[in-house]
Amino acid sequence: MLEIAALNKSFGAVKALSDINLTIRQGEVVCLLGPSGSGKSTLLRSINLLEMPDAGRIGINTPSASFDLTFGALAPAIVARELVRLRSSVGMVFQHFNLWPHMMTIENVAEAPICVRHETTRHAGLTAAAMLTRVGLGGKLTTFPDHLSGGQRQRVAIARALAMRPDIMLFDEPTSALDPELVGEVLQVIEDVAASGMTMLVATHEMGFARKVADRILFMDQGTIVEDARAEDFFERPQRERSVRFLEAIL
Ligand code: ADP
Ligand code: MG
Repeated sequence: MLEIAALNKSFGAVKALSDINLTIRQGEVVCLLGPSGSGKSTLLRSINLLEMPDAGRIGINTPSASFDLTFGALAPAIVARELVRLRSSVGMVFQHFNLWPHMMTIENVAEAPICVRHETTRHAGLTAAAMLTRVGLGGKLTTFPDHLSGGQRQRVAIARALAMRPDIMLFDEPTSALDPELVGEVLQVIEDVAASGMTMLVATHEMGFARKVADRILFMDQGTIVEDARAEDFFERPQRERSVRFLEAIL
């Protein structure tokens, strides 16, 4: 469903992604682990082109969309229409929810389906209500973000991503900005989305979650994928010395 080949991205002298290769199959739940600064966000942001890779290839093949994007000096420019199509197919949830403060939750969730997918207000509103109910916020349809807890805000952000009916969901440390007592409710919603068969790539520091929900772990360090293993193997029998040190430091 997602195939990345020889992907590179530098910021000045910092090589944030160094020859990344990876394949994710339909329905796979992959957790992206690694120390701060290892390139997790850059990888996720490159997949839906919030960052433009310097070189490499991203292929996406879903039941509803197909992309073959090549990057580099000689590659054709990506047109805006492609970007919109790509971001409809690849949903993203950020560490800092990024909700619109002047919109009620239902408006936050319905906005992109109306503006990007040109759904009718009525249809998008019904979908938004259903998605908010799915994340346990059916009673907060007309609440403004200011009046929600961090955990509720992040669940709105997840509903907003789901409302675009993506084929792949990317999560960038979705619980890192939350008070500890609010982490569980958000992880539960993400676990439910995973159980629904969604293809997901989740950067996280929540090892318990990764172990329970991930099919596969990608462990990154200094812009490279150091280890790519089944979740059970990664936690029980890490193969790389760098992975062992990481696990020892946090477990
Ligand atoms: P992680 O998400 O694993 O913490 P990042 O992908 O955010 O790692 O960062 C990888 C490296 O790229 C780090 O050295 C970081 O400082 C650098 N970096 C990321 N984004 C930018 C940016 N917009 N400008 C300059 N350097 C950046
Ligand atoms: Mg990050």
